[in-house]
Amino acid sequence: MSRTWLTVDTDDAHHRPWRQGHPTRSKDPSGQWTARQPSKAWIASIERFGDWVQQTGHAVTVFVIQDQLVHPHARKALLDLAARCGTLLTFASHGTSHRAWGAWPEDAAGLTAAVKRSFAANEEAFGEQARPWFRAPSGYVAPWMAEALAQAGVTVDSSVNPSRLVRRKAGPTRRWSDVIEAMDHAGVLERTWHVHRGWPVCGPALHLPGMAGRARRAWNNLPPLLMAEEVKGAVEGRDELATVYWHVVDHMRRKGRWRPPLRST
Ligand SMILES: [Zn+2]
Repeated sequence: MSRTWLTVDTDDAHHRPWRQGHPTRSKDPSGQWTARQPSKAWIASIERFGDWVQQTGHAVTVFVIQDQLVHPHARKALLDLAARCGTLLTFASHGTSHRAWGAWPEDAAGLTAAVKRSFAANEEAFGEQARPWFRAPSGYVAPWMAEALAQAGVTVDSSVNPSRLVRRKAGPTRRWSDVIEAMDHAGVLERTWHVHRGWPVCGPALHLPGMAGRARRAWNNLPPLLMAEEVKGAVEGRDELATVYWHVVDHMRRKGRWRPPLRST
């Protein structure tokens, strides 16, 4: 693993699985009545993330939830972010409403249509910075999704957290290898999340007691980061990458002083 791909997800409070999008874990499973206005903390976190990108000059791929491009305040925050950070940022899809597709019964046509809508919205909003890459909401990704994603034009999927601890998110067989095989079969390149000896080190693992220390050490030992001009070729290329992700709202932690635990920053 020679290089590192930095990615963030733009989840706001109302996207969390206990709020909506999951068939059994959510108060509002189908997400029909959940309000979509951005929280103040989310708006502020986008600002801080933009500051961090500008200060460090690091290239990051931002996985955006399409409903954020519909709500005017969230949309403005994302467009301002794209404008100020320029070519350092690329924008990909984190679904339309954060529905946890892999936890629901198979609906290939529904997923394909949703991802197409999300890609179209990203292209309209971000133009040249938009990429046909996808990350499944809440990490639920079942094998049936691979062909549906290919149909939507997805070239790269980055949904698999290849740890036994979260194998319940891998669909009915609970085997990550089945998901990876399905992606390969569908012609979608899978960029699994970085793990350390089978332990999660991305997203929530950065903050969970019992995992955070290991995650920070793993991030400290990451290979060199991809430069902005290398991202497209490397992510869609054949070479191995260490793919890591955090949530943009993490930038509000520690009174707004939190930063991704990279050695170089
Ligand atoms: Zn998410």
